Amino acid sequence: MKIAKEPVLVSACLLGQPVRYDGQAKSYPHPLFTALSALNLLHSFCPECAGGLPTPRPPAEQQSDGRVITHRGIDVTEQFATGAKKALALCQAEHIKYAVLKANSPSCGNEQIYDGQFEGRLIAGQGVTAKLLTAHQIQVFNEHQLDELTKLLERQA
Ligand code: SF4
Repeated sequence: MKIAKEPVLVSACLLGQPVRYDGQAKSYPHPLFTALSALNLLHSFCPECAGGLPTPRPPAEQQSDGRVITHRGIDVTEQFATGAKKALALCQAEHIKYAVLKANSPSCGNEQIYDGQFEGRLIAGQGVTAKLLTAHQIQVFNEHQLDELTKLLERQA
């Protein structure tokens, strides 16, 4: 695979790191990750960990007013915001224009998130980190859109 030498931010859980709220990973092997890694262009990052939350941690969902609340009612908005700001700072420091973030996460989801009621219903929307990166012109993909990003980077090579 011949791709442009563009650094890419990737959700740490997609790369096999056990950083999810339930202490698990969501490994998503893909040739693009292998190619980026070989070129030293892969930046693994977990915004919720960077925001100071432990692993494992209670599940949290974004509410309609933008706050992020755990299923037990604890407000973790500040930690989610801190993680998002740290993700943006890393992107700006490393000149990162593309990110691959885990679909549906309250931090990382780029198109859909859970509706805040903890009943497993997805709605259109972005997680806190995906939203901040998008607002700063960083193009956010999810793990189901890796072929799309691969083609884009191949065209730029
Ligand atoms: Fe994965 Fe993002 Fe959740 Fe961290 S915050 S575990 S990177 S989906």
